[in-house]
Amino acid sequence: MPRIVQKYGGTSVGDVERIKKVAERIKSTRDSGNELVVVVSARAGVTNELIARAKAVSPHPSERELDQLLAVGEQETCALTAMALHGLGVEAVSYTGAQAGIFTDKVHTKAKIKTINAAPIEKDLKAGRVVIVAGFQGINEDGHVTTFGRGASDLSAIALAAALKADRCEVYTDVDGVYTADPRVVKNARKLEEISYDEMLELASSGSKVMMSRSVEFAKKYNVVFEVRSSFNYNPGTIVKEEVAYMEKVVVRGVAVDKDQAKVIVSNILDKPGSAARVFRALADANVNVDMIVQNVGRHGIANLTFTVPQGDSHKAVKTLEPVLDEIGGGQVAIHEHVAKLSVVGVGMKTHSGVAATLFQTLADAGINIELISTSEIKISIVIDLDRADEAARLAHDAFHLESLGS
Ligand code: ADP
Ligand code: ASP
Ligand code: MG
Repeated sequence: MPRIVQKYGGTSVGDVERIKKVAERIKSTRDSGNELVVVVSARAGVTNELIARAKAVSPHPSERELDQLLAVGEQETCALTAMALHGLGVEAVSYTGAQAGIFTDKVHTKAKIKTINAAPIEKDLKAGRVVIVAGFQGINEDGHVTTFGRGASDLSAIALAAALKADRCEVYTDVDGVYTADPRVVKNARKLEEISYDEMLELASSGSKVMMSRSVEFAKKYNVVFEVRSSFNYNPGTIVKEEVAYMEKVVVRGVAVDKDQAKVIVSNILDKPGSAARVFRALADANVNVDMIVQNVGRHGIANLTFTVPQGDSHKAVKTLEPVLDEIGGGQVAIHEHVAKLSVVGVGMKTHSGVAATLFQTLADAGINIELISTSEIKISIVIDLDRADEAARLAHDAFHLESLGS
């Protein structure tokens, strides 16, 4: 029997009616003769509500307790989905991440999956049951509940598809697939038929919320081909898979905006070997994810370092760096939160030049100032003013003719 892993995101299971609809879709997949493991997210908005409640009780809640709390959102939909399936006469069982054998490291709120013990799920599948797994969570070796970071039910699905050697993995969401830009911001964005792991990874890590970036990394590593599609219709979605030669014909595949960015400026530090290492070692030890980094040319032995972090980490970054400043020359550290990162992505950039020039000219013509620039082989990212970010995305989308080019 073909084995399918499906994942339903927050809007897809947003209320009782939606959960019943999802149960019908699961039943029809099951009735077509497939083994089925389903990962569900919390109802849309629930994780945010739980975070707000935690903060109302304690401004800086313990990360261990936060995980314990946030895991509940997925557990609710998971049990409800199993119940809805029972109502349709389908044998189903729901599991928390821990019960599903998903073991992680000890980093609370952004844990990494270490191993999956697939035996319990295998047993249920053999017995003909549909298995519903609460996304976004696992358990560490000390028996504590962990979560994987926002949007990470995607990761649960991809990891289970790899561990269970699924024949298909389908990620159901509230749009028809992966578009050339967020279709809610860029009205003429176009749905892609397929996209390479690398492009999807760059878009995801640049703010395209449609897939969580670590899930794409995992899919690439274990070669899990997956389809992103809508749970609200039966339209074909977007296939995410290994790069194939013809993909390079398209220079820019998509545009992404990340508004969850803060710029951290460490100024007046000693321009000598070891200063940058000290700064980024401290940040790494505190589990702060640093993205774009720029160091200006030192003058009179003094330099400035600027980098971006997710907004949620910006205060942690400052707290981490303050005690280190004395060791590197006694400079200052400041945060600017009113910024956004705009990225253009495409494997075709490996073989075509001029993308940066077109992007920079387009923004210059609109009077949008570029604060930081970074590039990879297949991506150009810039930091700009938050208020101009959506406009910049639309301008870049038009400049590269994404409404009409490519797959
Ligand atoms: P889910 O709850 O199903 O995981 P998300 O809200 O995390 O769904 O992701 C889907 C959303 O991602 C869409 O509603 C859309 O607004 C946004 N999005 C951002 N960039 C893109 C893109 N390039 N293609 C499709 N959707 C995108
Ligand atoms: N419920 C979690 C979140 O909102 C995980 C997910 O939906 O994928 O981030
Ligand atoms: Mg999501």
